[in-house]
Amino acid sequence: MASLKPMPVMTEISRPFWQGLNDGEIRIQQCNQCEGWVFFPRRHCSHCLAHDLAWRKVDGRGTLYSYTLTRIPTLPEFADEMPQALAVVELEQGVRINSTLVGLDEDEIRVGMAVKAVLDRVDARGNTLLRFTGADKALESLPYVDPLAELPRNDKGQVQVPVTNPAALQALVSDEFTGWSAPIEVNQALIDAFAELSGDDYWIHTDPERAAKESPFGSTIAHGSLVQVLQSRLNFALPFDITGFSTMVNYGSDRLRFPAPVPAGSRIHARARVKSVQQSRKGTVLTLEVNIHVLGSERPSVINDLVILYR
Ligand SMILES: [Zn+2]
Repeated sequence: MASLKPMPVMTEISRPFWQGLNDGEIRIQQCNQCEGWVFFPRRHCSHCLAHDLAWRKVDGRGTLYSYTLTRIPTLPEFADEMPQALAVVELEQGVRINSTLVGLDEDEIRVGMAVKAVLDRVDARGNTLLRFTGADKALESLPYVDPLAELPRNDKGQVQVPVTNPAALQALVSDEFTGWSAPIEVNQALIDAFAELSGDDYWIHTDPERAAKESPFGSTIAHGSLVQVLQSRLNFALPFDITGFSTMVNYGSDRLRFPAPVPAGSRIHARARVKSVQQSRKGTVLTLEVNIHVLGSERPSVINDLVILYR
């Protein structure tokens, strides 16, 4: 059930628990000194205070200690899950875990009933949350259903994502970049034109003779802001097309860096990825990380986290 829902943030201490779920295992901590079980994740044993905890795999069986049915969303993002069965489950090891119940009708839920874990994969990156259901249920896991799979494509092959479909928008977020754009050349004439337009005619950009002698780069280099705006000429192919909005606004940049120079005469190309999608009071905010590189260079010359607002 992927959507724009708040996700747990792994800390150094809690990482083995969350990573375990992503790997298909429930891991909780046990004390090497007193053998007491500990949950939530901690540095020290909550029984004997020893700093000697080990992560152990458990099978996720337990009983329902307490529950409540929420009919008003605890956050707007959970409106599609109403009513939510918020539960406290006591594992066989004696620790209690806050969770939600799935695959049960309201009248099947009883305090003290036997329950078992259900691993709920919530996104394409494999993030998995821990739910519980009745011990007698066949449900073992909730697999990830790709919300992009059933959406139509346009004539460019881009998946058409309605701005009103939060699950599909969230599925666009990826660590993978698009393919590279076709390259363009950044020559001295272009740099000179930008120097005149912007008023930034510093010699490092505009004086090839002096730059050859004095610049650490051995030649003139393009202005970072010139390379940044050349993004408009670098047509990387996004695999999606957002539809159904009334306005799309360039809302600026969350991060703009020029890590590597672009010497005059270089050829540059660009690629991008969706870094995040969030709902705000203003609308849907999509952050597109655009990287521009000199051809063959590992280090980007521009990193720009473009913020695009749809409403
Ligand atoms: Zn202990």
